[in-house]
Order: sequence, then structure tokens, then C-alpha cells
Amino acid sequence: MTRVYLSLGSNAGDRLGVLRSAVQRLHGLPAVRFLDASRLYDAEPWESEPGQTAGEQPWYLNCVVAIETSLAPRALLAELQTIETSLGRTRPQGTPEAQRFAARTLDIDILFYGDEVLSAGDDLQVPHLLLAERGFVLRPLADLAPELEHPALYRSVRELLDELVDEHDVRAGDYPTRWFED
Ligand code: ADP
Ligand code: MG
Repeated sequence: MTRVYLSLGSNAGDRLGVLRSAVQRLHGLPAVRFLDASRLYDAEPWESEPGQTAGEQPWYLNCVVAIETSLAPRALLAELQTIETSLGRTRPQGTPEAQRFAARTLDIDILFYGDEVLSAGDDLQVPHLLLAERGFVLRPLADLAPELEHPALYRSVRELLDELVDEHDVRAGDYPTRWFED
């Protein structure tokens, strides 16, 4: 079993409901043991649709979860993409640009897979390439694993957060985090 940290985010529809359903689906995977979830954060979106003025994209709701899994990285990514799709994420038609800026019902990214460093192709880069630049990832990650060391940057999550330059607003939200009730 390998300890894995995942970033979950939603900025469309019932954001909290989607994140809870995603957590429950992760919990239900046979090869996954669910360990813990961070607090929930409201996060200002990074990008607006080209041509939109900043602020028109809805804010994200973000969290990080810790799991243990016997799935290999690519098999895990495939399970995560199945969960994204079944909870309503559609990958819009159009240019890669248009896809990047579309609102996300659900995005699940692999932040760390044990202490492995994987960069075989664009389809799976671990640790996640942008994690050290994103407050909406580092803040919730620091709830769960402040001492975790990045296997390529040789910095702990706490150090990365201390060094972070990210002007986007990220606020710990006052949400009920009863992940497994109802
Ligand atoms: P975002 O970059 O906003 O997460 P997508 O969820 O559409 O956008 O991801 C684009 C691609 O990133 C996916 O098709 C996936 O193969 C690839 N990818 C590369 N590394 C990772 C990772 N660590 N976790 C999740 N997806 C990844
Ligand atoms: Mg993603």
C-alpha cells in the first residue's frame, strides 16, 4: 500500500455535494483505504475564460485527501477520471485553451504518490507539477501533512507554504465536514 495525497476541487453546481460524493466514491474503491481529509477552502479561480473579466468564474471549493492504495499510479488515475466523469465532469469540446478555462464540476489530481517521482509523459506527472505554486493545494495539504517532504524539491509542505508567492485568495470555509453521513 502506498500513501497518496489527492487534490479535489469543484467550481460548478453543488460543490460541497460533489466533493462529498467524490470522497465517498474514493472510500468505496476496493483497492483504496481512505485515511483523512483536510478542511474545505474557498479559493479564487486562477483563470477566467479568455475575454472574461476576472471574477466572473465561480470560486472553487477545494480540499486534499490522504489515502492508501495498492493501485499503480496509472490505474489510480484511471479510477479518479472515472469518478470525475460519473460525477458530471464533461470535458468540453474545443481547443485545449477552452478546455482549461471551463468550469469544473470536479477535478481530482494526484499530488504525491508515496515518494515517487514520475514524469514519463504529460498524462501523469507526480508530484503534481504545480503544487508548489498553488495556495489552494498547499493550504489544505498542510492541514494533513505539514512535514511531508517533496521528493524532488526537498522542501516540506510547510516550507513550500512559507515560501509561496500566490496572490489568489484562499479561505478556510466554515463547512460541515461529515463526509460519510447521509
Ligand atoms: P488540470 O490540469 O486542471 O487538472 P485536467 O484535470 O483536465 O486539468 O488534467 C489534464 C491532464 O493532466 C489529465 O488528462 C491527466 O492525464 C494529466 N495529469 C498529469 N499529471 C497528473 C496528476 N498528477 N494528477 C492528475 N492528472 C494528471
Ligand atoms: Mg485534473
